[in-house]
Amino acid sequence: TPPLALTREERARRATTIARNNIAVEAKDLTKSYGPQKVLDGLDLTVRVGEVVALLGPSGSGKSTLLRCINHLENWDAGTLRVGGRRLGFDENGKRLSPRAIANERASVGVGMVFQQFNLFAHLSAKENVAGPLRWVHGMTRIDADRRATELLDRVGLSHRADALPRHLSGGQQQRVAIARALAPNPSVLLLDEPTSALDPELVNEVLEVIRRLAIDDGLTMIISTHQIRFADEVADRVAFLSGGAIIEEGPAHEVLTNPRNPLTARFLSVME
Ligand code: ADP
Ligand code: MG
Repeated sequence: TPPLALTREERARRATTIARNNIAVEAKDLTKSYGPQKVLDGLDLTVRVGEVVALLGPSGSGKSTLLRCINHLENWDAGTLRVGGRRLGFDENGKRLSPRAIANERASVGVGMVFQQFNLFAHLSAKENVAGPLRWVHGMTRIDADRRATELLDRVGLSHRADALPRHLSGGQQQRVAIARALAPNPSVLLLDEPTSALDPELVNEVLEVIRRLAIDDGLTMIISTHQIRFADEVADRVAFLSGGAIIEEGPAHEVLTNPRNPLTARFLSVME
């Protein structure tokens, strides 16, 4: 077993903190179709501040679409999304935001995202991948952005690779740069969409360790879609199982993973590792 699973005390401490805290993300009756296909079908999900939620479910069940909606990279057809109490997509008068206003919303609402394929800027160094957006999107000075980027690269164990281009980094290192980039503006919620699925097996653990540390040391609120059942068991407070664009089962991670009540969940888990 990996060395950094949460201890029983850590879990208890986290549970107390989470129960006391506010709601970080709330999706209500979220619905989205592509043509005739309903990809999100009245989905409800509440994530509390400090909570780590793992999204599980077969390919095509809507995990990426849900995360992309929470980051407002996609529009949805009906239902509401709130991040830190703020309703996404509408101004304070209830008027729908323009695409440009949505870009502002994305820069200020405090959601960071890590993608399966890393999505680094290929022509920029590791450090500039982190520092650049801090200047362009968040208006930081070069000095402040560089300082912050150095700090973040150190946090993901990559200070020594700051000047490397993505193609000279391993997949695991690239994904750690992507995590540093997502964390740099200090988001209140970090979304990770199958962060280890594109990695060679021997590189998976270095990325999972970084995510574990964010959960354990920093108490960061995270929503992670993953097929790593054991990782979900060790790090997530709660698991939500998607099928057909809705959550068909959710609950404390260990409970759902060891004793699923829905036959679809049980069948899915039985074919994983
Ligand atoms: P998951 O991440 O759980 O594998 P996705 O959210 O990627 O699921 O996809 C859910 C469904 O939506 C799938 O059937 C997928 O083919 C479809 N889908 C996703 N993105 C698009 C798109 N841009 N256009 C049309 N269909 C899409
Ligand atoms: Mg996906």
